[in-house]
Amino acid sequence: MAPEKDREAALRDRENVRVVVRVRPLSDKEIQAGYKSLVATDDRNCSIHVTNPSAAEGEPPKVFTFDSVFGEDSKQVDVYNLAARPIVENVLEGYNGTIFAYGQTGTGKTFTMEGVRSIPEKKGIIPNSFAHIFGHIAKAEEDKKFLVRVSYLEIYNEEVRDLLRQDQSVRLEVKERPDVGVYVKDLLTHVVHNADEMDKIMTLGNKNRMYLKMLHIQNIIC
Ligand code: ADP
Ligand code: MG
Repeated sequence: MAPEKDREAALRDRENVRVVVRVRPLSDKEIQAGYKSLVATDDRNCSIHVTNPSAAEGEPPKVFTFDSVFGEDSKQVDVYNLAARPIVENVLEGYNGTIFAYGQTGTGKTFTMEGVRSIPEKKGIIPNSFAHIFGHIAKAEEDKKFLVRVSYLEIYNEEVRDLLRQDQSVRLEVKERPDVGVYVKDLLTHVVHNADEMDKIMTLGNKNRMYLKMLHIQNIIC
């Protein structure tokens, strides 16, 4: 591929929305209750096969295709490297990036996004991104400056709350402006200097969480 084409492909890649799926293993409780897994993953074809247990005999499973699939045995580090690392890398180059988890309660969003922060191999995407971001900054050339700011908000019952605000009774408004796009008015942003500070802020915000969470990291390269 010519260099010009290479660049075009890289840019296209940057702008892509990618959708990956992760299937969690059955819990001990589910196994004890006699439940069977109905979702099989096919890594090679990036698809999942969902079997309807009450379907007529011979009815094939439904197949859904994604950009990547992560099966029951997938490791946190593999999810990070494949699904999250390229996005964070682009953010470190100055592009905007968003990672979000979607799924009904109990499907593994918190496990994938946060994981168990005290156990290295169980750390999820968010704490892994803290280490990635500050590892990159530590290795960057001296003349490059970084500003890392963090906000943490929750949308619950259509109401937006700032999880880092002392007064949790304050409801925030979602607004739109032609120059900045969609934003949350009066949402606090904290400047952070290392992964430890990020971790502490996340713990603080988690205490104020109801259900759904979004971690929004803004990074500006000066
Ligand atoms: P959600 O946030 O979507 O409601 P959770 O992340 O809390 O779901 O996951 C529900 C349960 O399943 C938790 O006990 C969690 O530890 C477990 N779990 C989720 N995903 C996995 C996984 N990939 N491997 C092992 N356990 C998982
Ligand atoms: Mg959760």
